[in-house]
Amino acid sequence: MKKHNFSAGPCILPQEVFKQASEAILNFNNSDLSLIEISHRSKDFVEVMDTAQDLALELLDLKDKGYKALFLQGGASMQFLMVAYNLLNKKAAYLNTGTWASKALKEAKLFGEVVEAASSKDQNFNYIPKGYTIPSDADYFHITTNNTIFGTQVKEIPTTNVPLIADMSSDIFSRKLDFSKFDLIYAGAQKNMGPAGATLVVIKEDILGKVDRVIPSMLDYKVHIEKESMFNTPPVFAVYVSMLTLQWLKNNGGIDAIEIKNKEKSALIYNEIDRNPLFKGFAASADRSDMNATFNLVDEAHKPIFDQLAKEAGLNGINGHRSVGGYRASMYNALPIESVQKLVDTMQLLETKI
Ligand SMILES: *Cc1c(COP(=O)(O)O)cnc(C)c1O
Repeated sequence: MKKHNFSAGPCILPQEVFKQASEAILNFNNSDLSLIEISHRSKDFVEVMDTAQDLALELLDLKDKGYKALFLQGGASMQFLMVAYNLLNKKAAYLNTGTWASKALKEAKLFGEVVEAASSKDQNFNYIPKGYTIPSDADYFHITTNNTIFGTQVKEIPTTNVPLIADMSSDIFSRKLDFSKFDLIYAGAQKNMGPAGATLVVIKEDILGKVDRVIPSMLDYKVHIEKESMFNTPPVFAVYVSMLTLQWLKNNGGIDAIEIKNKEKSALIYNEIDRNPLFKGFAASADRSDMNATFNLVDEAHKPIFDQLAKEAGLNGINGHRSVGGYRASMYNALPIESVQKLVDTMQLLETKI
């Protein structure tokens, strides 16, 4: 039996994508060659890269709006420094909503003054700060739209008069937003788009070219734009699987349709967390993530029993991150609602066992 995979990342992808990807490893496009043994400059692979970039912009409704999509390497973590390297002249502002946001902020400090516009560290990042001001002389404002570890999500995208940059690693392509509000979006593929190894960067070209420093080629967005993500050998497998996942998303109604499903899944789990007296939610209700639900047992003594029931039910990857403890159910696009139902059933089963 296939497991119910709640892993936070790398994570579940559509079953049909796994199948298509494994076929391409053996025989890509009926070429009698593997996807991973051909030149990245071959016509077949260039078409994969073009299609993946094009689908990303199309799904985000950013086509013909001055944006470029890139597939880069180094993970979202590389973007923490690339963003600052390319865009921070004097001062940047950051919203500190968790571990990843803190890491992004730390890297930016290597390149200039960093203002923490607001932070939720005072309560172990269990909420999203609101009502803060963004300095109008900042070169940009950086947010993390979904906080994978703590299970919070920015519901209202702030209005800014400075460029808005977002780490969307764990909720890109999961919900409708006005993506044109953002000047740069980045996301490690392995949370909602593909395997580890590729990072999507969607960038509005006119924000570039405004810093004085010299930028090494590999870290320069302009170089990657000019070379269409082929400055060096791209992670061909990760880009290919991302393309397949984006095609799957498009064929299934795009972001509009998946958002409805994601909301059904998150409502199911949060209703149970709120109803079941044995569990309590971690994140503030208003800021709960539709992607990563964090919750704890009211009585830790029940942990061995619940863990055993979860194992018997085939639930994988529900252990919470060490900074939160308890449990975390990651419900990315490809996770079927039946898996969430199984988790809810297991939480209810615990009530009958104690
Ligand atoms: C996982 C994650 C990262 C780190 O991604 P890497 O690709 O491992 O560098 C950064 N930001 C967020 C929001 C994440 O969920």
